[in-house]
Amino acid sequence: LATLGIDLGGTFARAAIVEKDGTILAAAKMALTDRTPEAVVHAITQASRDAVTAAGVGPIEGCGVGVAGQLRGETGVIAIAPNLGWREVPFGQMLADALGRPVRVVNDLAAAAWGELHAGAGKGARDLLVVFVGSGVGSCIISNGQIVRGANGMAGELGHIKVVANGRMCGCGQKGCLEAYVGGHNLIAQMREALEQGRPTALTALTGGDPLRLTPAVLEEAARANDPIALGIYETAVGYLAVAIANQVTVLNPARLIRGGGVLTHAPGMRAKVAEGVAAFASVTSRSAVTVLEAALRDDSGLIGAALLAT
Ligand SMILES: [Zn+2]
Repeated sequence: LATLGIDLGGTFARAAIVEKDGTILAAAKMALTDRTPEAVVHAITQASRDAVTAAGVGPIEGCGVGVAGQLRGETGVIAIAPNLGWREVPFGQMLADALGRPVRVVNDLAAAAWGELHAGAGKGARDLLVVFVGSGVGSCIISNGQIVRGANGMAGELGHIKVVANGRMCGCGQKGCLEAYVGGHNLIAQMREALEQGRPTALTALTGGDPLRLTPAVLEEAARANDPIALGIYETAVGYLAVAIANQVTVLNPARLIRGGGVLTHAPGMRAKVAEGVAAFASVTSRSAVTVLEAALRDDSGLIGAALLAT
């Protein structure tokens, strides 16, 4: 029997019919032009029907949804989903009513970690640390084969550990968070600030002066060319990231550290610095136990993991 996995992002949702071993039988992607909960439920329902037909399987068993946001435990209520502009949306129940199947809503990183554990780079291990650096920064801890959730489901919030007392403002409302220096949006914001100050930098030539063309990959390119402005932003970001992850490895003693997310995918130098940071800064005993890997399922970790978490 197969299950339905949904990866619910801010601009797109993806649906896939997934077998128990993590094989995707059919998938569909839809743009979320209308982000009201009703419209998103409708779009997912349509895409799911298409995927079921394309997969040629019987009725699906259940559905799992991975979403970037804070959840009200296992109730299916999305407390806050900043990318969608949602607050207190009973999304699980709405989608279950539309699909006529049980729906489980989980955090996107938990879904990605679960996918990697059962069908990707974590296969065969029981203790994982999964770190994703994209527009935001997050991690999921898997201990003895189980996702560590914490008292109110917020364990693993790596993006909001403090790396500077009273440092840069973060989107969460606090200052000095790791994400304020390393998250994709914030890397771009720091480059834009330098451009707006009119400081001479290679970033101007690399983007033709168009701030919309600033990306983490452009930052890495300029830093590699020893542009002082880019180097300052880049070295600060990779330094904080490497130390933060190395500290997590020291505390958690995982068997595998799995790196993923858009920034680490498109800025391979940053990805390498994370591995170097673990080797340099994690405790001798913890670093000898950990293997540093990339997310093997690439963009599909969360999609597959959500399906495997379906009830
Ligand atoms: Zn924060």
